[in-house]
Amino acid sequence: MIKTDKILHLKSSRGGKVRVVREHYLREDIPCFSALCLAGCANADGKVLSADLTHYVVPDAAVVRDFLEVLEFRELRGIVFTQTACQSVQHSRGRRQYNRLRSLLKDPRHDCVLFCNEFQRYAYCPREKGEAQDKWQTRCVYRAAVWYFDHLVGLKPVVMITEDPAAVTEYSSLNAGVYVISTQEYLQSFWPELQAAQELHGSIAQALQERESEGQERQYTEHLPAEVLEAGIKSGRYVQGTLNVNKHRAQLEAFVRVEGSTNKGTELNSDVLVCGAKLRNRAVHGDTVAVELLPRREWRGRNTALTEGEAEERAGEEPQSQPMPTGRVVGILQRNWRDYVVTFPPRDEVQSQSHNSQRILVTPWDYRLPRIRISTQQADALQGHRAIVRLDSWESTSLYPNGHFVRVLGKAGELETEIQTILTENSIHVAPFSEAQLREMPVNPWQVESGEVEVRRDLRDTHLVFSIDPQGCEDVDDTLSVRTLPGGAGLELGVHIADVTHFVREGTLTDLEARARATTYYLADRRYDMLPAVLSADLCSLLGGVDRYAMSVLWQLDAQTLAVKKVWFGRTLICSSYQLHYELAQSLLNGQEGAEPAELAELGPAERGQRLADLREALRLLTHVARQLRARRDEGGALELEGVEVRAQLDADGNITALVPRQPLEVHETVAECMIYANHWVARKIQEAFPHQALLRHHPAPRQEFFCQLTDSAKALGFSIDTRSNKVLADSLDRALDPEDPLVNRLLRMMATQAMSNALYFSTGALPLDQYEHYGLALDRYTHFTSPIRRYADVIVHRLLTAAIEKEKGVEANKALANNKELEALAHHINDKNRAAQHAQKQSTELFQCLYFKDKDPQVDERCVADAVVYAIRANGMLVFIPQYGVKGAVYLKNREGQVVSVRQDGSCEWESGSLQRYPDRISTSTTAGTHTFCLFHHITVRISVQSSRCHADRLWLEVISSRPHRAAPVPGAGQGAGHGRAELVQEVVRWAEEASQREAEGRGAAPKLSREEREFRQSRGPNLYTLLQEIRELALADLSSCQSAMPQPGPPPPACPTSA
Ligand SMILES: [Zn+2]
Repeated sequence: MIKTDKILHLKSSRGGKVRVVREHYLREDIPCFSALCLAGCANADGKVLSADLTHYVVPDAAVVRDFLEVLEFRELRGIVFTQTACQSVQHSRGRRQYNRLRSLLKDPRHDCVLFCNEFQRYAYCPREKGEAQDKWQTRCVYRAAVWYFDHLVGLKPVVMITEDPAAVTEYSSLNAGVYVISTQEYLQSFWPELQAAQELHGSIAQALQERESEGQERQYTEHLPAEVLEAGIKSGRYVQGTLNVNKHRAQLEAFVRVEGSTNKGTELNSDVLVCGAKLRNRAVHGDTVAVELLPRREWRGRNTALTEGEAEERAGEEPQSQPMPTGRVVGILQRNWRDYVVTFPPRDEVQSQSHNSQRILVTPWDYRLPRIRISTQQADALQGHRAIVRLDSWESTSLYPNGHFVRVLGKAGELETEIQTILTENSIHVAPFSEAQLREMPVNPWQVESGEVEVRRDLRDTHLVFSIDPQGCEDVDDTLSVRTLPGGAGLELGVHIADVTHFVREGTLTDLEARARATTYYLADRRYDMLPAVLSADLCSLLGGVDRYAMSVLWQLDAQTLAVKKVWFGRTLICSSYQLHYELAQSLLNGQEGAEPAELAELGPAERGQRLADLREALRLLTHVARQLRARRDEGGALELEGVEVRAQLDADGNITALVPRQPLEVHETVAECMIYANHWVARKIQEAFPHQALLRHHPAPRQEFFCQLTDSAKALGFSIDTRSNKVLADSLDRALDPEDPLVNRLLRMMATQAMSNALYFSTGALPLDQYEHYGLALDRYTHFTSPIRRYADVIVHRLLTAAIEKEKGVEANKALANNKELEALAHHINDKNRAAQHAQKQSTELFQCLYFKDKDPQVDERCVADAVVYAIRANGMLVFIPQYGVKGAVYLKNREGQVVSVRQDGSCEWESGSLQRYPDRISTSTTAGTHTFCLFHHITVRISVQSSRCHADRLWLEVISSRPHRAAPVPGAGQGAGHGRAELVQEVVRWAEEASQREAEGRGAAPKLSREEREFRQSRGPNLYTLLQEIRELALADLSSCQSAMPQPGPPPPACPTSA
């Protein structure tokens, strides 16, 4: 080891320069991380550069600093990041960019490594006297490139890429085998087919250039330096929180959600209002900011009038107009910028807004973001298109933030563009599974491995195992068994779940991809699977008549009391005898004539009769057990909320032939109850084994004030709702029945659901025991174990359960479990992705609703007129629910001209000048024609039309046309009729989408309907309402907190943040 001195010039906090001399140790054994290494480097503990590449590429420090995004393309392989370049990012680009670089280096899906060139004796070059920093860095990087070439004895050409033309001239002919070229030339010559990378490079380069020529006039107050902010937050002078922009008044209103623990000194228990752009001071929705409170006399109240598109107000979030803490942003602690979808303006706007070159203002799809200024040469070609942009900076001299163009999504308004928009806006990345991932899949046809037979409990001959799912189900996560134990004093209940973790080993590419996705995504017309189809639809799926691996829970219960005498957890080998669907299972239970599973068709009459009787007996026992389990939870206060009412009927190919209102079958609940039971017991098991690092799911009791809307609305009808516990709430909801109108009970349950927060995953070490409770299910501990094919949380839980079993056996774990901190971070990630999945599902549903109404003339088409129920009153209108289509929306009683809705004798409505009077449970309009009062829960008739938007999502527009119920409205008993219109809607839109894709296919010539990815990687795109509905069923029954996101089901929307709703 050689010691030398390294001289650093650092900036002090006051802006001066400090010279620091550090001891610097040089070594010869710095590893190269190349698979080609012949020098015996210690490459084992890191990622390794593949050998099968044409070259390695070493980017200059400036390239890594400014064009990291380009290097993030997974197609670019064999990248060597030098220590010099990484330190340059750390020093000049801050923590965010540096973390990004670090995660790129860590991610095994990216073929890149870190080379500590400055510690490697033969690669290090000290800075020369008077040498400029960037020249020196470039020299270091070049030296590192040469070292690689020599170290690998010329086996691999090395390309250095730089943004410095002088470096190209200086170095390109110095060493044979080491090439020095510009980034642009590199992309053009080595990656000509990677158009997106070239465009991105061009667009960043242009943005950098433009920024240098910026104006100097200050538009905003400067942000305070980090240390001032930190001290101010500590002392209580400033408040820290996340900025939430009100999407209905994006220019005017934003709220800072105060983070409790960091703001102890300030005694604030409400959000802080920030009015207008100047006081928001360049903070963007989602940023973590520091705010200073204004003096009390300058405090303002929030607006209470309905604004366009508003229908998602959270219960209890009755807008108040009294003044609230109001402040101004003094600094930004963390930018939380993501990819944004924007729309390019039409040509005439471009011309008027820019006299110099190609700078244009683009409008984000998300209302909460300001317009973004970008530089591009493609403005003309892109008008009317949606594209992804990223933000770069927002200087105090600039009215708008600066960004750069990343890639185009397509023409605004087209289905594919809009779906891609929804995915991008929710940060959902679902590229087709890569070939490297698919190479990890087991060979198919697959067979039970003999080694596994020895270590698993073999249930194939001893247990009658069967599954009950909707018709046409492909990915069977769960199967059941039940039997009377010899002697008759005991029962044995079994839940057998797909053994996904046998196939998906921790740390593999498939595992990492599944973890990144965290869930299967269900949109209105398609799904994106968490796991490749070979697993989800085949090897992991517990299909009938084939041997499969499972993770099982077996309970020995007392035959009389059903008290648990013994529980067994472990890996098993099963062969499911019957793949039943719900209707068939119910018919078998009911002893219906002719009900018989297809599996028996081939058998002789005697055997057939015997096996049918066995199956019936099993179903009967199962129902008996589930009823008792349910009754026990009911005593604990389990809530029954809004359930699903439509289901898809599929043909043999899995196409939807019809959507029919669900017959509520007891067998649905039976299956759900068994799954809840298994989840509960597994939760107990892993929590006991790992009290500080097990993944559970809790559902906090709601805050009482959120129930205001529910209790007040119920009071208006003469019902009293008691919300003090889940038990009394469940009971009082059961009593709040209007015999005239079943919708009343449904709406009340919807409000109850909305008052609740989401159930969330957490690590047991992160919360005290008393916060483990699952309020909705009335269980003290809960987790997700039963759907590992579709949820990553279940995959983690399977691994934890395996570890718990091994721990019990005294087997040494071969891999350390995630600690509490890591697990809590993972839980947050999964919670975020679930939220994103819900939003995407809801937005795609709204997209389809708009597509359905878009081509209908609201003035003549009867389908545009519907019955609606008033469920909330606002200052200038009311919120209504349209059962027929499952649509919620605002109905205005006052228009922009100040006119109000006037109601005539026959109930018909028109606009006239007049006034509005609002009460808690009703709202009156008065005109010369008289006074009319709209009350909560009254039925009215509305006309539905589509309000088109160029830059944002289209919206449904509701207009009251009669104060009376719609004559064609479903009569009382709406529960049954309700599904019909919605079913029609979904069917029609699916048909529409199919036709559109057909037309498109025809347009392209005889293009196959499936893309290459779809055929090879089975990334499903077809209408997959079945899976969607399957998911909703489970959510609605098993986990009420998530049932808000249902597609054809009119559940309330996921609770929007109170401040932004
Ligand atoms: Zn080596």
